[in-house]
Amino acid sequence: MCGIVAYTGNQPAKEILIEGLKRLEYRGYDSSGIFIANNSSPYLARAVGKVAELERQVWNSAPDGAAGIAHTRWATHGKPSEVNAHPHADCGSKLYLVHNGIIENYLLLKKRLQEAGHTFKSQTDTEVLAHLIEANYQGNLPAAVQKALMQVQGTFGIAAMHIDHPESIVVARRGSPIILGIGEKVSLAASDASALAQHTDKVVFLEDNEVATLEPGKFTITTLDNRSVSRGTTNLDWNIESMDRGSFPHYMLKEIFEQPEAVENALRGRVNHAEAVAKLGGLESVQDRLLQARHLIIVSCGTSYYAGLLGRYVMETLTDLTVETELASEFRYRKLNIRQGTAVLAISQSGETADTLAALREAKRKGALVLGLVNVVGSTITRETHAGVYSHAGIEVGVASTKSFTSQLTILTLMALLIGRSRDLSYEDGHEIIRALEQVPDQIREILKQAGKIRELAEKYCHSDHFLFVGRKFQYPIALEGALKLKEIAYIHSEGYAAGEMKHGPIALIDPKFPTLALALEDASYERVVSNMQEIRAREGKIIAITTEGNTKLGSLVDDLIYVPRTHEAVAPLLTVVPLQLFAYYCGVLLGRDVDKPRNLAKSVTVE
Ligand code: GLU
Repeated sequence: MCGIVAYTGNQPAKEILIEGLKRLEYRGYDSSGIFIANNSSPYLARAVGKVAELERQVWNSAPDGAAGIAHTRWATHGKPSEVNAHPHADCGSKLYLVHNGIIENYLLLKKRLQEAGHTFKSQTDTEVLAHLIEANYQGNLPAAVQKALMQVQGTFGIAAMHIDHPESIVVARRGSPIILGIGEKVSLAASDASALAQHTDKVVFLEDNEVATLEPGKFTITTLDNRSVSRGTTNLDWNIESMDRGSFPHYMLKEIFEQPEAVENALRGRVNHAEAVAKLGGLESVQDRLLQARHLIIVSCGTSYYAGLLGRYVMETLTDLTVETELASEFRYRKLNIRQGTAVLAISQSGETADTLAALREAKRKGALVLGLVNVVGSTITRETHAGVYSHAGIEVGVASTKSFTSQLTILTLMALLIGRSRDLSYEDGHEIIRALEQVPDQIREILKQAGKIRELAEKYCHSDHFLFVGRKFQYPIALEGALKLKEIAYIHSEGYAAGEMKHGPIALIDPKFPTLALALEDASYERVVSNMQEIRAREGKIIAITTEGNTKLGSLVDDLIYVPRTHEAVAPLLTVVPLQLFAYYCGVLLGRDVDKPRNLAKSVTVE
């Protein structure tokens, strides 16, 4: 959500900044802007809409200055417009600033600044920062930024420049990520490491309430209250390849097809066959506490929440833990009764999800063991948890999560295996789970071969105004995830329901124009799901079913069928989710949606 790129070095900044903004486009935004410090004539441009619009202006008119800042905005205060787009300037047009996050006390600060004679041009909360820094500026930009930010409540990642110091960039963060990239005679900063990857593999993660000053090839860090911080660079292993779309028309389709490898990567080196147990190096430091835990609370949002719901079924099946899964946005504001022996697991693709981060901080404060399951290496959640596991799904660019979800499910199953085998899960049962997980990559490859058929189903059904997804037990969270994908990507109203709940309300909606996608595998819930499908059929509802290969018993109960290979019922969600992702993708494409960047959505949700 929203993006920052900053560069100071020895090449024209405009090219590097625009390229960086393009790398961040996937996060979702509504407008963009750039400032280039150019000795004689500083340059500012802002545009509503795509970065391509800003780029056109920049090629026509921007100077070749070697330092600048740029931003993609996702409006929170004030509509998307040129005047509200960042960078924002002070009254004297000397200081320029970009910001991710929300300044909660901006109205109070704005009133004070207006009383002191400052004039505001935009409706944003961000503009108060430019004026507040101006009010504190006495020739030293980092000092002014420190003093200004001490008065601010809320979240921020910022990058600021002053025309008095055209080679310096000052960045700071609280609750919104900023990463520095340091190269030979160049320094960069960005809100997301993918914008740095092309330029350097040496990065520094700024922590909350820190300010960094960048000069070409150098950086210094202090805290907001001016204590100096010494921190070295970390080497990151980029894989730029994985950010390019190759021959796929969209990142989302590429990422759906990468799931066999994503599951392989999630499993690699993490299975001990001899003892039928998982080896999760990231949890070793807390292994004793984890294995003694009685109660696990999983907190997450969106697709990660559905992974967490499934994690609950899997954990309860393989271990004797009491497990709850909670929406982070609710959990963080509840009165938490954390008892001894409670572990909290935060799941987040980006590792920056604001609600999930706040929830885990609250749980940590109350004494819980806090763990993370995160995809992005070095992200904030990974640094604030006691221990955790990376999902190793690789960079996920499509806003709607696909391969991250299957990686998360794989790791949750491994965690359940690790805990279960230290309690009452038998060697045979552990081994059966491992065998099932190891077959998943090839089984997903088989399902992907049906992409053409799923596209035909999308053609048949994509003009429906509504859709229902139903499943039971392990397939219930997948029904929820299938419905979410269709909403996100195709903008079709869809609901996920536990199949047994149908008769308590939603069945009233069913008519010939309200199709249902039923997850009807030949598992312990099969007969009950079939009964629920019969109830739908009796109301003339159309049904697409996903069932187990070889099941020929559904006959005229369904209009269309998709088969998935037979597997352990706790592992089957890794298979059934794939046709649902493809179905949502093709519906989105056929309806002309922007599937990689659906409207109103952002990849990394760094605001509350
Ligand atoms: N709150 C700021 C605004 O609305 C920043 C939004 C963002 O993070 O892009 O301008």
